[in-house]
Amino acid sequence: MAGKTYRIAVFPGDGIGPEIVAQAVKVFSVVTERTGINFTLEEGLVGGAAYDACGDPLPAASLEMALNADAVLLGAVGGPKWEALDYSVRPERALLGLREKLGLFANLRPVTVFDDLIEASPLKNHIVRGIDIMIVRELTGGVYFGKPRGVKTEKGMRVGINTLVYSEEEIERIARVAFEIARQRRGNLVSVDKANVLETTQLWRDVLTEVSGDYRDVSLKHMYVDNCAMQLIRDPAQFDVIVTTNLFGDILSDEASMLTGSIGMLPSASRGRCAAMYEPIHGSAPDIAGRNIANPVATILSVAMMLQYSFGLKEEARRVEEAVETVLRSGFRTRDIFQEGMLLVGTEEMGEEVVKRISA
Ligand code: NAD
Repeated sequence: MAGKTYRIAVFPGDGIGPEIVAQAVKVFSVVTERTGINFTLEEGLVGGAAYDACGDPLPAASLEMALNADAVLLGAVGGPKWEALDYSVRPERALLGLREKLGLFANLRPVTVFDDLIEASPLKNHIVRGIDIMIVRELTGGVYFGKPRGVKTEKGMRVGINTLVYSEEEIERIARVAFEIARQRRGNLVSVDKANVLETTQLWRDVLTEVSGDYRDVSLKHMYVDNCAMQLIRDPAQFDVIVTTNLFGDILSDEASMLTGSIGMLPSASRGRCAAMYEPIHGSAPDIAGRNIANPVATILSVAMMLQYSFGLKEEARRVEEAVETVLRSGFRTRDIFQEGMLLVGTEEMGEEVVKRISA
């Protein structure tokens, strides 16, 4: 592997995006020092920053960069400055455009609680201690994309329509991603649907069961979404990998992220046909942008996911995660996770502390 070069498209975006991405990219030079693998980072404009520069939230040059990259790292997009714009040029269009053009159909959100941050969870310690869940959400299909859609007027009354549609092929490809991940973890997969009411999700359930024949080493359980929402609060430790539709995944992954109590800590990956994209789960946090107080850890952990999933560098990914753990154990805290008696640091110092420990 030494001597190999990977191309990474880096899109800092808006708000705190540039601050947190600046910390995360430092990880690559440490990995190069340790492994001899080179990373060529190319920075591009997306979101509001891109709109300001050229009137397009996803300029052709940035899309080209993403399509030619081995992986994409994104900060966050959006902010009040662009809220009055037409939907077609809103910063968030950049995310949808990248998802579509890179065919990013699988969104992976790990939900883990660091022992040293357990007090930050709104749930009781014994409920959240040791949870380690991977949520696999289908990202390019389902009710968010199904047609017909829209609001029309029928007999003088407005009627809203959205369509929940999934083809067998779409279900099978996300199922296989989830089974492969479960196989590399603790071997337990829970598929979440609403098969008692929605025919589309009965098909989802059937296809999951059929695919399970190729993964006899993984135990598959089906769960209704309402029950899953409850179980995530009652006993989150029962879950290893959860796979679900776009809409259910959107809601359940936000619910699950709150188990940890700290949005600034959680990374994500979106995988598909081309390069995978890695980003923190939070947004551009305009309320704290430019003040060196944002937590860069979610973005740093997104790089750890990239090292593991895009480049197979498991050991390096583990070192990044352990470095974060050590920094927390040593008492360093950004403002969002600060507790009495801890050491309050800024975005840059937090990044430096983590990077120092990766190379140590
Ligand atoms: P947000 O995630 O940006 O912020 C929610 C709250 O969490 C804020 O109080 C913020 O200060 C805090 N926060 C978020 N990240 C943090 C971090 N790393 N460290 C410390 N605190 C952090 O969500 P929002 O306020 O609803 O949205 C703000 C903008 O971000 C909107 O324009 C929205 O459309 C956009 N957004 C973008 C993405 C993305 O780029 N993937 C995702 C969600 C929201």
